[in-house]
Amino acid sequence: MDLKQYITVVEDWPTEGIKFKDITTLMDNGPAFKSAIDEIVEYANTREIDIIVGPEARGFIIGCPVSYAMEVGFAPVRKEGKLPRETIKVDYGLEYGKDVLTIHKDAIKPGQRVLITDDLLATGGTIEATINLVEQLGGIVVGCAFLVELTYLDGREKLDGYDVLTLMQY
Ligand code: 5GP
Repeated sequence: MDLKQYITVVEDWPTEGIKFKDITTLMDNGPAFKSAIDEIVEYANTREIDIIVGPEARGFIIGCPVSYAMEVGFAPVRKEGKLPRETIKVDYGLEYGKDVLTIHKDAIKPGQRVLITDDLLATGGTIEATINLVEQLGGIVVGCAFLVELTYLDGREKLDGYDVLTLMQY
C-alpha cells in the first residue's frame, strides 16, 4: 500500500517554515493504519524482540498495536513526573532548551532485546535519548521503527550502528 498518500503535510505548523507531517490522517484510516503496523510487525518478527519501548505520545500509538500483535510487552518512556514508581532519566537537547525523559527502573531486564518505536525520525534526539534509557537498564536495542523519516535532518547519523526501519521518507 502507498502509505504516503495518507500523511497530511501541514505548512507553517507549529511555526512558520515547518512542514509538519500529520500522521492522524493515516491513523484514522483503518486499512492504512493496519498496513503500516503490519509492516513493522513483519520487521520485528525477524528480530527476536522481548519488549517494545516508545516515547510519549506518538511512540505509544505505533508501539502498542505492534506489541499486541506480537504478544510482547510495551514499556512507556515519558516526560519527567509522569511515571508513578522509581525511574531513571536522561536529559536531552531540544531545539530550544532541554527536556527530560524517564522510564521505570524495572521496565527492562538486563539482556532483553528491545524494539523502539516512534511515529517520526527528525533530528534523532528523542530516539537517541530513548536508546540511552534502554541501555542504562542493560537492554539491547535490536531495532528502531518509525512511520516517517525526515532524511534532510540526518537523524540516522545519531543512530549509527543501530538497525532502523522507516516506512516513508521525505
Ligand atoms: P527528533 O527528536 O527526531 O528531532 O523529533 C522527533 C520527535 O518529534 C518525534 O517524537 C515526533 O513525534 C516529533 N515530531 C517532529 N516533527 C514532526 C512532524 O513533522 N510530524 C510528527 N507527527 N511528529 C513530529
